[in-house]
Amino acid sequence: MSSHANNPKPQITRAYVKPDDLPEVNGKYITEKSLSGLTWFRVGGAADVIYLPTDADDLSAFLKNLAADIPVTVLGAGSNTLARDGGVRGVVIRLGSGFADIACDGETDIRAGAGALDVRVASTAAGAGLSGFEFLSGIPGSIGGAVAMNAGAYGRETADVLVRVEAITLDGDKRELTPDALNLGYRTNGYPDPIIYTAAVFRGVPADANVITAQMDEIADKRGTTQPVKSRTGGSTFKNPGGASPNGPKAWKLIDDAGCRGLRVGEAQVSELHCNFLINHGNASAADIETLGETVRQRVLETSDIDLDWEIRRIGEVADGA
Ligand SMILES: Cc1cc2nc3c(=O)[nH]c(=O)nc-3n(C[C@H](O)[C@H](O)[C@H](O)COP(=O)(O)OP(=O)(O)OC[C@H]3O[C@@H](n4cnc5c(N)ncnc54)[C@H](O)[C@@H]3O)c2cc1C
Repeated sequence: MSSHANNPKPQITRAYVKPDDLPEVNGKYITEKSLSGLTWFRVGGAADVIYLPTDADDLSAFLKNLAADIPVTVLGAGSNTLARDGGVRGVVIRLGSGFADIACDGETDIRAGAGALDVRVASTAAGAGLSGFEFLSGIPGSIGGAVAMNAGAYGRETADVLVRVEAITLDGDKRELTPDALNLGYRTNGYPDPIIYTAAVFRGVPADANVITAQMDEIADKRGTTQPVKSRTGGSTFKNPGGASPNGPKAWKLIDDAGCRGLRVGEAQVSELHCNFLINHGNASAADIETLGETVRQRVLETSDIDLDWEIRRIGEVADGA
């Protein structure tokens, strides 16, 4: 990274938050923990405080009693998030085991906590002989992340199976919302206010469990050969400019055409296998990864006149001196 010796950055005054500044909760506060262990990229500084609520009531009480000027950031499985090296000010809320239950509800519905992994929901549905969830088997996120991002793959997306969500506003009020209210689009959720999903109800279609499992195996095979699924990555870095349309421009193709396949910044690299994936080879910093992404964006703009839009969520602050 370039030196700023002749052009010093303005001093930023940060109000670090400590557990003493926060309401009493049943859940747990963790301090001085790097977010690298909670994100797929395995990079990132520490959050001031990480809060693990025990359940929706605990989270609701926390939000009701939290001082309005303390920022909160929600993290699911961290598979679509780049946490910057300077860490995250305020409270990072992580929904863990208290939000991981998955249960069949009647003949066709499945209710899953927002902390449940997509792959577990897919396998529960398969076991119950419910089709429609196969696409989730290849997405390494949580249900909260799937609703927040309208995660999808192979022509299917979360909106296709979602019946309703349970959520909590930043004021601590519990809400039940239908997909219409969320205004889900291609990798977007258009709900107008910040909100935390705590559970979701999905509807499948009864089908032969063997057929469902075979489809999930096919998805696993396909992913294993076309995406760097075993690497430290954040999945698709940029949205396809044509959205979900099969005929629209694809981000990976634009990146390839811009000559960025395999491009490196330090230990961060554009995947050779799938150009829309960035990889941390081990010791990349978040700044390396973000710089690489911005370089790719710039090159695509120069070669194709298309300004790519980050799909990966970037959180936190750039480290001092970066
Ligand atoms: C190898 C690999 C393959 C991938 N393949 C796909 C794919 O095929 N299709 C696809 O769509 N994505 C894919 N992804 C990206 C990622 O898995 C999805 O976007 C996933 O839905 C993110 O879920 P998460 O829990 O990891 O979210 P996080 O990365 O933790 O968070 C992502 C966003 O969701 C928000 N969020 C998370 N939980 C909640 C909650 N409970 N309430 C409110 N907001 C919340 C966060 O605030 C953040 O803005 C892939 C990623 C990897 C690493």
